[in-house]
Amino acid sequence: MTKRGLSTKAIHGGDERGGFTDIIPPIHRTAIFLHPTDVNIRGRELKYSREDNPTVYLLERRMMELEGGNDCLAFSSGMAAISTLILGTLSKDDVIVTSKEIYGATLQLFRFLEKFGIKVVAVLNEEVSNYVKQGVKMVFVETITNPLLKVSDIPNLVKICKEVGAILVVDNTFATPILARPLEMGADYVIESATKYLGGHNDVIAGILVGWNLNGIWDWRKNLGGCLDPFAAYLVLRGLKTLKLRVLEHCRNAEEVVKYLTSHKKVKKVYYPTLNHDYEMVRKFMDKFGGVVSFELENGEKAIKVLKSLKIIKRAPSLGGVESIMSHPATSSHKNLSKEEREELGISDGLLRLSVGLEDVNDIINDLDQALANI
Ligand code: PLP
Repeated sequence: MTKRGLSTKAIHGGDERGGFTDIIPPIHRTAIFLHPTDVNIRGRELKYSREDNPTVYLLERRMMELEGGNDCLAFSSGMAAISTLILGTLSKDDVIVTSKEIYGATLQLFRFLEKFGIKVVAVLNEEVSNYVKQGVKMVFVETITNPLLKVSDIPNLVKICKEVGAILVVDNTFATPILARPLEMGADYVIESATKYLGGHNDVIAGILVGWNLNGIWDWRKNLGGCLDPFAAYLVLRGLKTLKLRVLEHCRNAEEVVKYLTSHKKVKKVYYPTLNHDYEMVRKFMDKFGGVVSFELENGEKAIKVLKSLKIIKRAPSLGGVESIMSHPATSSHKNLSKEEREELGISDGLLRLSVGLEDVNDIINDLDQALANI
């Protein structure tokens, strides 16, 4: 088995065929199971799909295989995974240190929790480690941030969190286990929005939590009700079979797009982890950097004009699917922030984010070229 990548077991699975000969695992499209039965999952009798479902459990075992850890739970969305972990782990007066540059809904959720007495310290990504001290309960970062593609220094955060006894949670959505495995580096939990690269085809909403002995969080999932539907689990399982191929091709296409954009006269700045000032740190634990590239034009008007001129690249939110997708953070993902707040994060009106898809890279570049020629 290669260290990063799909093991044969992750593709072919184990004994989940229940005596039948399908090479594809069945979708257990049922809410309830006959009772009593000696079939059990996690040592519990299988009875109700909000608790456990064999198709969902199969996905959980595959994700555990990919990310490391010894337990995994799948959820109805990335946000369900995050909210269940947070509610199941934090209590009144606990302090969570995080980056202002994490996914907007995650940060908003943390702010909501302030009404239950949870204290949130949100700082720029590169400053997170300075705020991790005695008394901090949890540190929450993303492997690669959005939309400026900053890489978090996970080995350093692991060290500091261990020193002060804080729980380290890493949202690995942009990297996937193909590019980075935070649990192997010593993180306590990994979260992923499986809606993105894991599913990979923009046809499913799902979330994953991987960690160690998640029995306590299993109870929270059961009671909050954010379990994954078996058909959604099947779609993510199918996505996983090509995850490595897709992610590596997304990276290759993105590298070509970065080369093209950095040499274009009308592009003021390109954002991609290899262009980060701290590239040495970035290289400590990753050697490929994913399929998302951001770039800055002179102003918002030009950015919108480019967006409207695209012919192949689609204008939509989200990322990580086979289609190339472009968004304008100032009027989409970050529109709820004030202009000053966006400026503090480095998100100008001229910034565009491109999730580079799996089309022929020449088609993607030609589309960018004709759109940029319009401004
Ligand atoms: N984490 C990151 C980094 C994301 O980009 C997203 C969604 O865009 C989420 C979590 C939430 O995932 P979902 O949309 O599946 O709830």
